[in-house]
Amino acid sequence: MIQPQSELDAYAALAAGAFRFFKTTTVKERAAFMHAVADQIEALGPELLDAAHRETALPLPRLTGEKTRTVGQWRAYADAVAKGLYVEARIDTANKEKTKNDIRKYSIGLGPVLVFGAANFPFAFSTAGGDTASAIGAGCPVLVKAHPGHPETSRIMAAAITAVVEAWGWPPGVFSHIAGDEVAGTGERTGAYLTAHPQVKAVGFTGSYQGGKALLDIAARREEPIPVFAEMGSINPVFVFPQALEQGAETLAKAYIASLTLGAGQFCTNPGMVIGVKSTAFDRFKQALRAGIRDVLPSAMLNEHIYTNFERNKALLSAQPEVNIWAEADTPAAGSQARARIMETSAVNFLANPVLSEEVFGPFGILIEAASVDEVAAVAAQLKGQLTITLAATEADMDAHKTVVDRVKDKAGRLLFNGMPTGVEVVYAMQHGGPFPASTDARFTSVGPDAVKRFVRPVAFQNWPQTHLPEELKNVNALQILRTVNGRLTAEDIS
Ligand code: NAP
Repeated sequence: MIQPQSELDAYAALAAGAFRFFKTTTVKERAAFMHAVADQIEALGPELLDAAHRETALPLPRLTGEKTRTVGQWRAYADAVAKGLYVEARIDTANKEKTKNDIRKYSIGLGPVLVFGAANFPFAFSTAGGDTASAIGAGCPVLVKAHPGHPETSRIMAAAITAVVEAWGWPPGVFSHIAGDEVAGTGERTGAYLTAHPQVKAVGFTGSYQGGKALLDIAARREEPIPVFAEMGSINPVFVFPQALEQGAETLAKAYIASLTLGAGQFCTNPGMVIGVKSTAFDRFKQALRAGIRDVLPSAMLNEHIYTNFERNKALLSAQPEVNIWAEADTPAAGSQARARIMETSAVNFLANPVLSEEVFGPFGILIEAASVDEVAAVAAQLKGQLTITLAATEADMDAHKTVVDRVKDKAGRLLFNGMPTGVEVVYAMQHGGPFPASTDARFTSVGPDAVKRFVRPVAFQNWPQTHLPEELKNVNALQILRTVNGRLTAEDIS
């Protein structure tokens, strides 16, 4: 859909205006607004689920769960915002002799945030997803660039947020929904135009490496560079260790297949690589993978574009030298369905061929057989940044493989001891993001209340009069938020 440039400029100007309003809101007001949005989304009827099912082919039970998760995200982020966690108030009062200044710091919103909807999570990482909730919690107006894969779903979600904006009498620029993907007369992509727009101050993105990197580069070239928080996926390696294999090679293979093929493999935490040292137990694991994957039925992918990418990347990796098809689902795929496949290669070949480290978005994995623990350590050292790395291990395995364990710590945002990486809980301690290229800024998470931190910046006030300080930093803590006062975390007033 073509969008006139003047309309995009108008959206950006509205957002900039709304930011002035946002700065007058307290954390409690923003939290209450977020709870109202949660209620509004929760009340949406079957039209939302039907639209998403039609547009993404995701099954209704999955979408029902994702809707609940999305509502929960708004509520959890709201509660964290209300506690003042992301205001991060720090107060160091002057001493009686006045040889020390009174300095008070807190964090405020960056300004209008451009959010890109993701293909694979039409609710939780899209129009009303975690990026939008965290930007609003931070006090930032949001411009959503709808994902072209689910335009109607996006419109319904946007209408729900807009209804709350209107009911609350907040300025319309608090939230804008942009459906067009091309700027009229220029051929430029809407997302690129808005990333370069002077009134946009940050970007939240989940999608391909190419997309995220392109936006990062545009943002860096601006006269005023801005942060781009792009989550671009990874291959989420699983390291299988000897004792764990001895104790349950078959169970491990079953769990791996279930995770690899969940949702047609369309998760950024999909475990697309598994590695272990050749042994009898590793052979059992391999045979169980081969047997287990045969029964996996092909399932429809999100859209034609993603299916085409899957087939192309699968073919590219499969055609590499010394890489063989190890296991494949029996049933041939039809239409835009994905058929699960696992390739096999040696650690030496993996180390020599960078193509084998590329993500294939879908139910596709690469099984790496190492000849020694040293080879496993070399693979760990060569890995690019990942969202997750899983160690299928016992504690004794960990003790016996300290080099590998140490190396993987540098490579991922979330390290799992057993279990599988799909399924990202929305909790304070979650880290969803990792060293580049998993994400563009490893210091932040895009899941969990800490996602709000991406969209704030600190500002300090030195020796300001009480009357002119923001509410969050006055001696009287009317908002009852937690503050670090002279090094002590407290919600008390300052006497
Ligand atoms: P995508 O190509 O990265 O597109 C996502 C969004 O970013 C779309 O709204 C797109 O806008 C915009 N965009 C992409 N490149 C852009 C550019 N150079 N300039 C301006 N805007 C740009 O992702 P996708 O189409 O949803 O999926 C394609 C592939 O991404 C998948 O096959 C998979 O490999 C990967 N993916 C990864 C994850 C993950 O969790 N990390 C999730 C989904 C997809 P337009 O409307 O202009 O295209």
